[in-house]
Amino acid sequence: MLSYRHAFHAGNHADVLKHAVQSLIIESLKKKEKPFIVLDTHAGGGLYDLRGDWSQKKAEYADGIGRLWNERAQWVAMAPYLGVIEEMNQGGDLHYYPGSPELSRRLIREQDKLALMELHNNEVEDLRANMGYDPRVAVHHRDGFEGLVALLPPTPRRGLVLIDPPYELKEDYFAVVDTLKKAQKRWATGIYALWYPILGQEADKSRDMLKAIKRENFGNVLVAELEVAGQTSDWGMNGSGMLIVSPPWMLDEQIEAFLKPLCARLAQGTGAQYRVEWLNQVEA
Ligand code: SAM
Repeated sequence: MLSYRHAFHAGNHADVLKHAVQSLIIESLKKKEKPFIVLDTHAGGGLYDLRGDWSQKKAEYADGIGRLWNERAQWVAMAPYLGVIEEMNQGGDLHYYPGSPELSRRLIREQDKLALMELHNNEVEDLRANMGYDPRVAVHHRDGFEGLVALLPPTPRRGLVLIDPPYELKEDYFAVVDTLKKAQKRWATGIYALWYPILGQEADKSRDMLKAIKRENFGNVLVAELEVAGQTSDWGMNGSGMLIVSPPWMLDEQIEAFLKPLCARLAQGTGAQYRVEWLNQVEA
């Protein structure tokens, strides 16, 4: 039984990190005219109304995108991401927030494609409604782990896979490693971006997951983490990470350029920290 609904969390610090990195990767794919595809394994509802009851419940966006919105012009290193949010909120007030599907949909070009997978019945309905009749977009009501492997290798052959499970089930931490292995076997040239939470000490599984990924032979693997608060002993989420397999050239520097000031801006008390590091780097 799936209970996770992303509307409760849309626009929080974890979304800011994930979506800023996602945008930078899509922008680097756009440097060549050749078409590309974005495959999103855990798509959610597509886009979110921040004034809706669910988003308002804990107003997590207030300490995420909410802290950047009024000063968005100064965040040039995150311009593609913030540009999409600006397009969606033309009156100037922050009202709508793009999920990963709407962000991709607004950033890709005429010749590009977007494949979205979502398992939850209600979320997939929202997703279909929110993606409209865009001929570039395909929505698949299916498990994103097996669905991804089944869709590979994709047409066109260049592109990005975004893997963003809710980690409600601890099996998700193993499923992502297994899926990355199977997927890379079928499509070795794809870029893979995996989001993961960093939780309090009792609950955190991200260090074990990173060790398991490091043991595999995935080639270049970059890790970018943002912890908005120091790690506590409880179960709360104090930060998150993006792990990128085969990142585009210079992505590490592009992330570093926004993550350092972002860490200072989104800090919640002392103990905030960030890192951009190679988990694995293949000699050129
Ligand atoms: N990627 C979205 C974004 O950035 O806007 C947020 C996705 S949310 C973290 C995770 C989503 O995965 C939820 O909508 C949930 O219903 C869905 N989900 C859970 N298990 C799944 C599975 N095995 N396959 C596909 N979707 C799944």
